[in-house]
Amino acid sequence: MTFTGFYKKTRKERIEILKNLNLISDEHSHELLENITLDVDVAGNMTENHIATFALPFGIVPQILVNNKEYSLPMVTEEPSVVAAASNASKIIAKSGGFETKILDRKMIGQIALYDVENFEQATSKIEENNLYLLQIANEAHPSIVKRGGGACDISWKILEDDEVKFLVVYLTVDVKEAMGANILNNMLEAIKPYLENLTNSYALMAILSNYATKSLVTASCKIKIQHIDKDIEKAKEIAKKIELASKFAKLDPYRAATHNKGIFNGIDALVIASGNDWRAVEAACHTYATRNGTYEGLSTWIFNKNENILSGEITLPMPIASVGGSIGLNNSVKISHEILGNPDAKTLASLITALGLAQNFAALKALVSVGIQQGHMKLHAKSLALLAGAKAEEVEIIAEKLQESKHMNLETAKLLIKENKEKIK
Ligand code: NDP
Repeated sequence: MTFTGFYKKTRKERIEILKNLNLISDEHSHELLENITLDVDVAGNMTENHIATFALPFGIVPQILVNNKEYSLPMVTEEPSVVAAASNASKIIAKSGGFETKILDRKMIGQIALYDVENFEQATSKIEENNLYLLQIANEAHPSIVKRGGGACDISWKILEDDEVKFLVVYLTVDVKEAMGANILNNMLEAIKPYLENLTNSYALMAILSNYATKSLVTASCKIKIQHIDKDIEKAKEIAKKIELASKFAKLDPYRAATHNKGIFNGIDALVIASGNDWRAVEAACHTYATRNGTYEGLSTWIFNKNENILSGEITLPMPIASVGGSIGLNNSVKISHEILGNPDAKTLASLITALGLAQNFAALKALVSVGIQQGHMKLHAKSLALLAGAKAEEVEIIAEKLQESKHMNLETAKLLIKENKEKIK
């Protein structure tokens, strides 16, 4: 059994394929079939004022090729056409050798902001003199991460000021291994805070992890042979040229950059959520990174090499995700996602998320510079409208088809079509 025609299969058949390819156990296959998700009692202990659990569609992008290995990526998203677009782009990119990824480092940074510092020179030399001692205090606050081969490894500082205030900001870098590290960092920072206040003769305003995870950067790239974009080479060249232009446009215009990056996050968020990670942390990190050159820019770069007929795409993102901790071990659907992914470590998961972001971006740009974004959206939008108008599962396809042929594709038409369909059946 393979993934061929996966999108045409029934839900049951898709689960069967995942099981037969050993991507999920019998137990998880049963849970998917029965739609057993987050246990309501577990949910009650995860957040406050809990009243129920809240569901979203759970889909699969099959056969994405990353670092010469094939993966199936779980995606959780409410937006129509995102999974289809990612699947289509991944297929095109796989034909050209797939994605390559690089991770330079995977550490997290936390900060303590000191104010009312009497003597900055003395304060900073005290920090430097006591560097090792401070690292030791930090590590003693969370010894288990040291046992796992990680822990606090660097302390640095910066003076930041405006006309009214002057801060001495101390940065702590921690190797968090497989965790995202917010709690690990916060424990360590709170432990060194009183020592820093004493050493520098100042007050600490706050001690907290920074979500700007510049020591967890991941680069994903791909080189697409343009014959895989379109069989008509002239048309493919035109699309490739326009994708390069579109990436330049997103570097220049923040109005476009916001939408360009939103498209990237259609993919990223869906996998970050499916993998049980903190998507607010990923969004905060990446959007801040998008401003690193002084203005908000598109996060990806596409270059068309006319001589070799290759379209190269690249994206670098901070990716502060984890394979353990947070809610990862608590949510049944998250456990299934990790199994489908092959239980990756944090570096592999970060690579897959970044590659998916680039795939999603390619899909959006390709549609935008050729047929336009609406063509692909409309079929799925018609399904959503049919559902919203009250179509039963068995009539969704037919109502959606009629809706697409209608002059006004809206809720009112959908309701009318459902009524007509019912009368016809009578
Ligand atoms: P956890 O508090 O769940 O800590 C992860 C724990 O996993 C570690 O302390 C460690 O505990 C255990 N662990 C098991 N195996 C490993 C391994 N191989 N490598 C590393 N740790 C391992 O999560 P984090 O500290 O990662 O914090 C993430 C959570 O914090 C998320 O839920 C996030 O939403 C939340 N958060 C985020 C903030 C932000 O982004 N600004 C702020 C505050 C919270 P042990 O060694 O003891 O077994």
